[in-house]
Amino acid sequence: MARRREVEPLFDTVALVGTGLIGSSLARVMRREGLARRIVGCARTRRTRSVCRELQLVDATFASPRQAVKGADLVVICSPVSTYAAIAEAMAPSLKPGVIVSDVGSVKRAVVDTLAPRIPAGVHLVPGHPVAGTERSGPEAGFAEMFRGRWCILTPAEGTDASAVRRVTDLWRRAGSHVEIMDATHHDLVLAVTSHLPHLIAYNIVGTAADLESVTESEVFKYSAGGFRDFTRIAASDPVMWRDVFLHNRDAVLEVLGRFNEDLSALQRAIRWGQGDALESLFSRTRAIRRGVIEAGQAEVPGGPEAGTVIKCPGRKRRAGGAKPASARR
Ligand code: NAP
Repeated sequence: MARRREVEPLFDTVALVGTGLIGSSLARVMRREGLARRIVGCARTRRTRSVCRELQLVDATFASPRQAVKGADLVVICSPVSTYAAIAEAMAPSLKPGVIVSDVGSVKRAVVDTLAPRIPAGVHLVPGHPVAGTERSGPEAGFAEMFRGRWCILTPAEGTDASAVRRVTDLWRRAGSHVEIMDATHHDLVLAVTSHLPHLIAYNIVGTAADLESVTESEVFKYSAGGFRDFTRIAASDPVMWRDVFLHNRDAVLEVLGRFNEDLSALQRAIRWGQGDALESLFSRTRAIRRGVIEAGQAEVPGGPEAGTVIKCPGRKRRAGGAKPASARR
């Protein structure tokens, strides 16, 4: 893979603990933009490690986080959130003083509470969440354009070393993202609405359709363009990652789910009593929200479970599910 050398790297050695969809995308963009002199990857399975070497995503691979992070000046944990405690405990003795530890986990309060007590003093914790992705997994699924035009939310605790926060901010900016600093608990509430609840709804609706005995499986597939198809893409997202999201953002998800259930009951009542005005008024408001998403530039990469649903932009070809988004094929 071509490396761009004319710009000064931001980091000497970056260790990615987890080199699946997100970790490998980060490796790819760091390579392309010359953001690190050396990138090492850590993965659980021999297969993932050998794919990473074959694709030249990293300079070296390790099975053990303790080995992988030795000498690194930035460590980014890119594995499912349920693995963080064991990873932090394993790597803690090898972290050099002054190293920055970051991550890409989709929930943030639980991540802070897990990592902060397990990393040694003198190590800077700057948690992050790139709000980007696709429903696919593994190192082959990543691509360097993943983060372009997306937001990356950083949730450092108050008093975190400012230069560490700045360096992680620079990393994501040079990967093409906009960066926002946010409180971890607030992040979890925002993402519960914009990402976690939509996934729960998709998992549920696809499960309901699968269980409906009066509708055959072939009819579900055949007529899926009526809206169901978009839910199936989201509901194809990684089961382990999403299990972890719901287990680690329980309070916020339950809160927005409560609101959602109330609103759904109101819609049910409106349908039962033929209240067309109520339905039309809601659907008009939601149409305006869609326009807001497009105007915020967040509607153009339909691939991601965290990037919203498939887009119908005038003049744009509709992308087949699972293919790279248009911006990734540039
Ligand atoms: P993924 O494609 O399944 O990759 C997970 C990686 O973690 C794999 O390389 C896996 O190695 C490795 N891993 C698992 N357990 C490990 C352990 N105990 N020690 C070291 N490595 C381990 O998952 P992903 O989609 O990239 O998600 C990774 C993180 O990104 C999650 O925390 C998720 O919340 C966050 N995130 C995901 C998305 C998305 O759209 N997918 C978006 C934003 C953030 P093996 O392959 O060898 O098992």
